[in-house]
Amino acid sequence: MRIIVPIKQVPETSAVRLDEQTGTMIREGVEAIVNPLDLYAIELAIQLREQLGGEVVSISMGPPKAATSLREAVAMGCDRGVLLSDKAFAGSDTWATSYVLSEAIRRIGVFDLVICGERATDGDTGQVGPGIAAFLNLPVVTYVAKVDSVDNGTCRVRRRVEDGYELLEASLPVVLTVVKEIANPRLPTLRGKQRAKAGDIPVWDAELLNLQAGQTGLSGSPTRVVKIFKPKLARRCEKLNALDEQGVELAADRCVEFLRERNLL
Ligand SMILES: Cc1cc2nc3c(=O)[nH]c(=O)nc-3n(C[C@H](O)[C@H](O)[C@H](O)COP(=O)(O)OP(=O)(O)OC[C@H]3O[C@@H](n4cnc5c(N)ncnc54)[C@H](O)[C@@H]3O)c2cc1C
Repeated sequence: MRIIVPIKQVPETSAVRLDEQTGTMIREGVEAIVNPLDLYAIELAIQLREQLGGEVVSISMGPPKAATSLREAVAMGCDRGVLLSDKAFAGSDTWATSYVLSEAIRRIGVFDLVICGERATDGDTGQVGPGIAAFLNLPVVTYVAKVDSVDNGTCRVRRRVEDGYELLEASLPVVLTVVKEIANPRLPTLRGKQRAKAGDIPVWDAELLNLQAGQTGLSGSPTRVVKIFKPKLARRCEKLNALDEQGVELAADRCVEFLRERNLL
């Protein structure tokens, strides 16, 4: 069994800043980490390999420093990591990102499962997993909360929906995107860290993947950020600061008055 886990390196903060002029994310000066939701995908992949054998390959598209995230994945227990990095990939939207990742997956060879996180904490679209499935012409199951079985060329999963779970069966190979419920990510072991430090992270570029100009990066991205703005609050509010007991009493009186004025009491 070969399981491929695409992971994204994201800024540590959830307060992603955007350049209003260019519409791109400002990544400078912010610590980079493995997208927290991808740790759940890694954990599921490792658990499945422990049960069924085979290998887990983690891939990431990003700048050279994204290799550190792949080393973390190896330290957790992935067998190897592959970095997809090229200036030609810079500025890719979700379409171009999914395309590059899917071409890298083809190059890795025969595989059974691609397991993605639910979404990235910076871009936050949740489109890349389904995008990979579309480019590879594979079935996709999103919001997977439990894998019941993987055998005889099929995979049975529970998919989280608003009021419960859907039980689905998909033929392999399949792309899954997983939610936090799926597993508790393990911490890297010392031995894992040593293996990750010593191991090689190969870098695949556009030429190696046989990608042409216009298929990746800004020129291969049909979507553009047209405008970035903070939504204006339509509702007016009155803020009451209560710093001591007397302040709390005054604030409570004002709340009652406020509700009475509107005939809500
Ligand atoms: C309309 C639009 C325009 C954009 N324009 C630009 C732009 O001009 N310049 C720019 O820099 N960015 C741009 N972006 C952001 C860029 O598209 C995303 O960073 C990238 O495509 C990944 O999408 P996401 O962060 O929403 O990931 P999601 O789809 O939320 O991620 C889901 C899962 O896919 C996998 N995944 C996602 N990205 C990667 C990756 N790089 N490597 C490996 N696995 C991955 C992970 O498993 C992750 O959990 C744009 C985004 C949108 C929506």
